[in-house]
Amino acid sequence: MYQAKAFSAASATAPLAQDSIPRRDTTDRDVAIDILFCGVCHSDLHQVRNEWESVMPTVYPCVPGHEIIGRVTAVGTGVSKYKIGDLVGVGCMVDADHSCQHDHEHEEQFWPGTAFTYNSPDKHGTAPVTYGGYSESIVVDERFVLKVPENLDPAGAAPLLCAGITTYSPLRRAKVGPGVKMGVVGLGGLGHMAVKLGHAMGAEVTVFTRSKSKVEDAKELGADDVVISTDPEAMKAVAGKFDFILDCVAAEHDLNEYIALLGVNGNLTLVGAPEQPLPIKAFGLLFGNKSISGSIIGGIKQTQEMLDFCGEHSITADVEVIPIQQINEAYERMLKSDVKYRFSIDMNSLKQA
Ligand code: NAP
Ligand code: ZN
Repeated sequence: MYQAKAFSAASATAPLAQDSIPRRDTTDRDVAIDILFCGVCHSDLHQVRNEWESVMPTVYPCVPGHEIIGRVTAVGTGVSKYKIGDLVGVGCMVDADHSCQHDHEHEEQFWPGTAFTYNSPDKHGTAPVTYGGYSESIVVDERFVLKVPENLDPAGAAPLLCAGITTYSPLRRAKVGPGVKMGVVGLGGLGHMAVKLGHAMGAEVTVFTRSKSKVEDAKELGADDVVISTDPEAMKAVAGKFDFILDCVAAEHDLNEYIALLGVNGNLTLVGAPEQPLPIKAFGLLFGNKSISGSIIGGIKQTQEMLDFCGEHSITADVEVIPIQQINEAYERMLKSDVKYRFSIDMNSLKQA
């Protein structure tokens, strides 16, 4: 075991501050990683502030971060896929019980006992819970490490590990491609990835945003159309037009407005995770056989597929690179939807601190 520098929160109301955390020595099947960049996901903020208390209460200290890019510094004797120096990624999962058979073979996020990257019981007993990527290094089971195409800029590639797979997976499930009219609600970290990926898959993409200032950006990101969601006339004009809408909003909002935009058999998939229930009018779904679903990240096989797709299409997130010492300001700006479009922490700022 060794100590690594990290940023942690001591309570739901404490700002993130520098800390020292234990990391385990590399076991046979572990990969040790020097972290270069870590994206800042809105889930980090929800978890740090214990906003998901009823579903997954936060254990403190909490070290968030699950959009990790780094270089391999050591591998266990049983590791075959990675060698020292490889550019690798780690997303929302770091470990699982591998001894038993699992349903949903390629959807590790649904296996009982899967360890998530932070705030999950630590299977190695290094600490009470797992500590995430706001840290200079991490040690991860080989099976949860991803190969990152070397042509991708590492700062922009980091958010692919959560925002990328979280949007790629439901897009594939909805068979997004040419001829599909797709909507994206909320142009934040997830939303802007959904626009880039939907555009690359050949769909006709419309962005729904409350922020007039984001209209030009949305088009540059690949949107064919942009609707200001607070304009009732503009919303009415596109009623019934969509095959599929991905809702990436982090706060309470009216889902019925988006159900009204679906055509017959249309689907609204939620990836945003606001803490409060969102009321739905049954009749909005009934007329048109419409459906509403949820989606959470994606399995490791599909995450690799997404990274390879992004490598082929040169897709990365649009990032504002920050030193880790600015993380608390970054959270406040994220809450105001004032980020273009993901913060990515340069971990040199922590190594040199
Ligand atoms: P983000 O960067 O903060 O983006 C959220 C966007 O939602 C904002 O940019 C804003 O877009 C819109 N928005 C914010 N407040 C709103 C409100 N009150 N009403 C309407 N729209 C609002 O967050 P993110 O990192 O993309 O994450 C989005 C959500 O997905 C979070 O709840 C996060 O926890 C969740 N998440 C889920 C998964 C999963 O696996 N399902 C994975 C990662 C994250 P406009 O300015 O364009 O309106
Ligand atoms: Zn995330």
